[in-house]
Amino acid sequence: MASKSDYYDLLGVDRNAEASVIKKAYRKLAIKYHPDKNPDDAEAEAKFKEIGEAYEVLSDEEKRASYDRYGHAAFEGGGMGGGGGFHDASDIFSQVFGGAFGGGGGGFEEFFGGGRSRRRSVAQPGSDLRYDLDITLEEAAAGCEKELEIVKEATCKKCSGKGSKSGTGAKACTTCGGSGSVTRQAGIFVQQTTCPECQGAGQVITDPCDACNGQGRKEETSRIKIRIPAGVNRGTRLRSAGNGDAGLRGGPAGDLYVFIDIEPHDMFERDGADLHCEIPVPFSVATLGGELEVPTLEGKSSIKIPAGTQGGTTFRLRGKGITDLSYGAKGDLHVEVHVEVPTKLNSEQKEKLQAFSESIGEKNSPIQESFFAKAKKFFE
Ligand SMILES: [Zn+2]
Ligand SMILES: [Zn+2]
Repeated sequence: MASKSDYYDLLGVDRNAEASVIKKAYRKLAIKYHPDKNPDDAEAEAKFKEIGEAYEVLSDEEKRASYDRYGHAAFEGGGMGGGGGFHDASDIFSQVFGGAFGGGGGGFEEFFGGGRSRRRSVAQPGSDLRYDLDITLEEAAAGCEKELEIVKEATCKKCSGKGSKSGTGAKACTTCGGSGSVTRQAGIFVQQTTCPECQGAGQVITDPCDACNGQGRKEETSRIKIRIPAGVNRGTRLRSAGNGDAGLRGGPAGDLYVFIDIEPHDMFERDGADLHCEIPVPFSVATLGGELEVPTLEGKSSIKIPAGTQGGTTFRLRGKGITDLSYGAKGDLHVEVHVEVPTKLNSEQKEKLQAFSESIGEKNSPIQESFFAKAKKFFE
């Protein structure tokens, strides 16, 4: 076996990183290297397997402790429960996301020692899947419909998921008597391991369907339409029931979870249901007052600027924000004005401004007045 990379290095986490940090690091990498995102990329696939393996160990308190003590040697020579070795990286991936959503089939335990005997149940639910979807702020505000292309395990059409050619289905496994596990002696321990004949299913198919090799399901690219309700925000999670992987041996399908992210907007900053923007206002308009056109997500609107408006003043346009997903009410648009100072004055304009300045004197600067009142003692 080629020398293996350190599991902590693989996930890019500290040796004493907390479980949540490890999970986060794994998620990020797993999404990056997932075969769906990197079709026909052997290097990414290898990396995906490696990080899956690292996560399988570091996410389990006991395994992690062994690994800390003995390194990779901890899991060699059948230490992982014999024969089976590590699981398919895609399974780990699905399970991580599945488990995190609270919907997944059974969680992690199912993969390790103690849980194996529980695999006796023949039907196995399909894994939940995750899809990361970027939308614009306009789409988030108005709601939209999207078609997603996802690669998933779908029920085999040829055998209708039965897995057998003749349609007779599966027969009880004779090796394990249908329990799905066998016991064996390993040193002083008696180990219970997955039955090598039926891989824990407790059943075998004697005439496997040639389209799906008896699995009853096949990897397929599906197009799924999903409606995005108005008001979704960054991190909103939408569930598309039954659109995850098909189950095995009659188990229910998993769900598809769509994680929303929203692209940054040129004009608006979002804060929950409210929007913020900054707009420039000419110095003369701020002084004399006037009407100012402002952009909103639904088009143009305008605000009245009272005479003597100072820079930094915020105006609120009620109901011009975004629908609040929980209350249904619309937020507001907050417009902050920035008073713009004219540049490139010619000499005539400069003279006039100078004259203007002298004519109004210092008394006519309300902010300066209060500033000087406060700053007095510093200037003495
Ligand atoms: Zn089939
Ligand atoms: Zn068996």
